This record gives sequence, structure tokens and C-alpha cells, in this order.
Amino acid sequence: MARIKYYYDTATCRYEVAKTPPGKLVLRMMTFMAMSLIAGACITWLYINFAGSPQEKVLKRQNKELKLYYEMLDKQVDEASKMLSALQHRDDNIYRVILEAEPIPASIRKAGIGGASRYAELLEKNLSYENLIVGTTEKLDKLKKQMYIQTKSYDEIIKLSKNKNEMLSSVPAIQPVSNKQLKLLTSGFGKRIDPVYKTVKMHSGIDFSAPSGTKIYATGKGEVKSARFESGYGNCVVIDHGFGYQTRYAHMSKINVKKGQRIRRGDILGFVGSTGKSTGPHLHYEVVKNGQRIDPINFFFNDLTPEQYQEMLEASNSSNLSFD
Ligand SMILES: [Zn+2]
Repeated sequence: MARIKYYYDTATCRYEVAKTPPGKLVLRMMTFMAMSLIAGACITWLYINFAGSPQEKVLKRQNKELKLYYEMLDKQVDEASKMLSALQHRDDNIYRVILEAEPIPASIRKAGIGGASRYAELLEKNLSYENLIVGTTEKLDKLKKQMYIQTKSYDEIIKLSKNKNEMLSSVPAIQPVSNKQLKLLTSGFGKRIDPVYKTVKMHSGIDFSAPSGTKIYATGKGEVKSARFESGYGNCVVIDHGFGYQTRYAHMSKINVKKGQRIRRGDILGFVGSTGKSTGPHLHYEVVKNGQRIDPINFFFNDLTPEQYQEMLEASNSSNLSFD
């Protein structure tokens, strides 16, 4: 209800109703409207700047989601690259070695992977997540290129292996103990701390820790070169696979084969033990190529997927204490 104003009229000696002149009324209304407009503008400005418009909120959320997915994608690309390098490692160190093909030079494996200039177009766009987007694109490019080279290498391997059936059944290609969970490999090839002398020494094989009596399998076709007790190695079997390859199985509790015996991949050579220089039941396994002991990790290719191979590679590199 509008307030009624009165004033005291000295002429009539009465209180009279005060009438606002129409001009003043219009001015008041205009002032009110202007103030409302300013207040409205201020509120809108505050809302947009501090709370964001609803559309902006949706965009921000979408942006956040996209960044998250991009980061996830980037991680997946990293994982794929890791798997590809395991494949390359296997290719160069196993397949190509066995089939006597030269390893693919690093310069070819990395060929055609250019510097930042390749991504100039992307960089010019001033992207908000430039590092992430350019980095992922670059990684994907590299991956595609390397995968192409890898498939070419496999083509060559397939061609080479066609006439090498005898060779492929002879070279060591499986783990010498049943190790489906991949938990048995406890010490890898390389410099390790000797458990007896406590000094760093070359460990020329791989140790699989397993209970005494665990079956030990021949890893490839061949002939038993020796089956006897040797100082250090304990009860030990050596298989000659031909093609320059030999394998050694040491510290057995019991030997199951005789010198000169022909064996096939998977035959039982003996049982895990702790004979000779050993700190506990385990199998010490060696692969010898042309008289040189080499890393057996590269000779499990028949029973390992690339992921398992990667896992074994990591396990083999991590432990620094051997069993013998
Ligand atoms: Zn060992």
C-alpha cells in the first residue's frame, strides 16, 4: 500500500495530503529502473565469472572428461609401446638369433620418426593440452611405424623358419620346470650377489626356486652329453641340442637320464634338489650357444605370451641374490 504523505498548511491550519508532481514521479521510476538494470547486470556478471553459465558448466565437465580420456589413452599407448618393445626384443634376441638372421638395426627400427616439425601443424593450433595431445600423437605415430617394421620382420622369420623344422624342435624353447604362474624364476642372468661368498659375481644362468622333487624337463630335442655329479653344479645334466646349442640343469636331487641318451623336448631329465653349491632347493638352468653362456630368458618362447615374456624379463632383472 502506497504511503500517503501529509504536510501542515499554515494557510488552512490543517494537515493536507502532499501530492507528488508528475515529473518527480517519472524521475523516480526511471531511477528505480536504472538501478534494477545495474543490479541485474552485476548479478549476471558475478554469476558468469564465478559460477559459470549452465552451458559453460556442461562444456567444462566435457572438457574435464576429454582430458581424462586423453590421459588414459596416453597410458594405453605407453603400454602398447612397452609390449611392442618386448616383441622387438624377442624378435632380435630369439627368432632372428635362432634362425641366424641379422638383428634389425636400431636405425631402421626408428626410421622415419621425425622431430617436432612433424607436429608443427598441431603446435600452431595453440591447443590447451598441447603437450598431452602432441605427445600422444607422436607416440602413436612411432608405434604404427615400429609395428609395420615388426610385421615385415615376422614375414622374413616365417620364410626362414619354413625349412627349419628340425632346428626349431631342437633349440631350447620352453621353461625347464612347470611355471604357469611365473613365480618360480627367482634370480636372473647377470651380475648377482653370491649367496655363499656375499660378493657380486657373474650368474651365468637362471634360478627357478621349486620344492625338492619337482620335475625338470628337457627344453629341446637332443642328446645327453653328460649326466653326473659336478663340483659346484651338484647332480647335473647337460644336453647337446645341435645347431651350436647346449643346456645345463644343475643341483638336481636325482638324475633321470644317462649319457648318450636321445631325448625330446619335455622329457623328464631329473628332479629339483640342492646338491652342489646351493643355498636351497632350486634349478640352475643355463643355455650355451657356441660355447658361450647366454641369457636363457630369451629361450622360453614356446610357452610365453608377449605379456608373460615381459613379466619374466622384469622378474629376471629385479632379483640381485642368486641361489648358487
Ligand atoms: Zn643359479
